Amino acid sequence: MNDVLAHRARATPDATALIDAGSGREWSYAKLDAAVDRTAGRLAELGIDPGDHLGCLLDTRPAAVRLLHAALRLGCVLAPLNTRLTPSELGGRIERADLAGLICEADTEANAVEASEVPIASVNDTERTEVTTLIDVETAEFEPTTWSRDDPCLMLATSGTTGRPKLVVLTVGNLVASAVASAFRLGVLPDDRWLSPLSVYHMGGLAPIVRSALYGTTTVLVGNDGTGFDTAATHHALAEHDCTGVSLVPTMLRRLLDAGDLPDSLRFVLLGGAPASTGLIERCERRNVPVHPTYGMTETTSQVATARPDEAFAHSGTVGQPLVGTDVAVIDAAGERVAPGETGEIAVSGPTVFASYYDDPDATAAAVSEHGFHTGDVGYRDTEGRLWVTGRLDEQIVTGGENVDPEVVADALRAHSAVDDAAVVGLDDPEWGERVGALVVADDDLDAETLRTHCRERLAGFEIPRTIAFVDSLPRTASGTVERDVVRETLR
Ligand code: ATP
Ligand code: MG
Repeated sequence: MNDVLAHRARATPDATALIDAGSGREWSYAKLDAAVDRTAGRLAELGIDPGDHLGCLLDTRPAAVRLLHAALRLGCVLAPLNTRLTPSELGGRIERADLAGLICEADTEANAVEASEVPIASVNDTERTEVTTLIDVETAEFEPTTWSRDDPCLMLATSGTTGRPKLVVLTVGNLVASAVASAFRLGVLPDDRWLSPLSVYHMGGLAPIVRSALYGTTTVLVGNDGTGFDTAATHHALAEHDCTGVSLVPTMLRRLLDAGDLPDSLRFVLLGGAPASTGLIERCERRNVPVHPTYGMTETTSQVATARPDEAFAHSGTVGQPLVGTDVAVIDAAGERVAPGETGEIAVSGPTVFASYYDDPDATAAAVSEHGFHTGDVGYRDTEGRLWVTGRLDEQIVTGGENVDPEVVADALRAHSAVDDAAVVGLDDPEWGERVGALVVADDDLDAETLRTHCRERLAGFEIPRTIAFVDSLPRTASGTVERDVVRETLR
């Protein structure tokens, strides 16, 4: 099959493909298609061949959208890289991923040059001799690729929450299956405008771009200066462009709600990447926010399960039913399926599950069983089949022989009105094996003793944090997950 944009540009050339809220620029599918042809031709001219691994060191901007489609058109495997990596981390990543070349922009070219010897091109003008520019050239000849479903097209690093990030290889079939299953849950309307402030080096940020092209709807990008989430700009763009959908991690949604009401045009707020607290879901209910809590990961091309707003409000904490075509099994330590209501490891199978970890057959084999991909996450299905994610296998705290679920404790802490956010971890303890520790973001006048008194009304004695420290913000990865090692270090 042709790349998704080629198909779309023929089907609805005049529909709006992309709006850059920062600059106000817009692209129809025909205009984007022509720009992508130029980029693909230029890449071919620079020696990038079908099947090559092409690195992408870009923030969430139109240039990243163009590069994604250009790589698909040429038949490359696109490897988006985290723009916040240091040059030495970046160098390691480039080597592991066997990149044939790296595309950067003005903000990232210094790091790119320092990181690696691979050919580097920039989407901006450049004065460096080591960097060629991708712009302002005649279109070169190239042969657009024809894709099969099983062809790899993306190589994405996981967030590295549990250790060294894994390089996940996703196929064209994975992308299409994920878009179709998501559409069957969220619906698609011809005038949909999906705003995504998420990084394009995570699946959650790429998904709206790929899906909009498949659906023929519009992607809206917010000005992103590489320093992180811009609450005011996002809030403004949602209303200004009558957005109907938005993808957010919980921290972003909390900040947007603090900034004011969300526009009535919104029909879905896809909320994932990390657990949403009951407090946040309650806020959404009070303020009529159509929140769809969702659970997913890189290895499943994003969404595994997604709840409807009414379901989220009635059963706060659930991530809803699995998407169509996706099977979710909850399994015990012996590898057997457990009964509804019982907790175990979540395993996922279906057409959105990744092909392999790059160049690591052992890790791939270790992550897959007859139940599918072992997520490393812990949870349960209720009697109606809804999925609940309660934590990660390696995060369960065992203190004095009692199991403590860190999320339950974090939720109790967040229930205090002066608490903005909290992360809970197990700390090594000579007496109890582990003790419960909490890092808390709160108003200045809150102290640890008041917080413990508050916890006593909600938690068992062994669940109450023995170590509490206050910080201005929690250490989080770009995709919103809390960096537990940093939390542990801070509390030690
Ligand atoms: P690594 O695999 O390198 O340790 P990671 O798992 O954090 O990092 P991602 O694939 O970006 O990398 O994140 C997916 C993970 O995020 C899920 O496996 C899960 O632990 C967590 N997650 C995503 N959505 C939710 C949710 N709604 N509730 C709870 N956890 C979630
Ligand atoms: Mg993971």
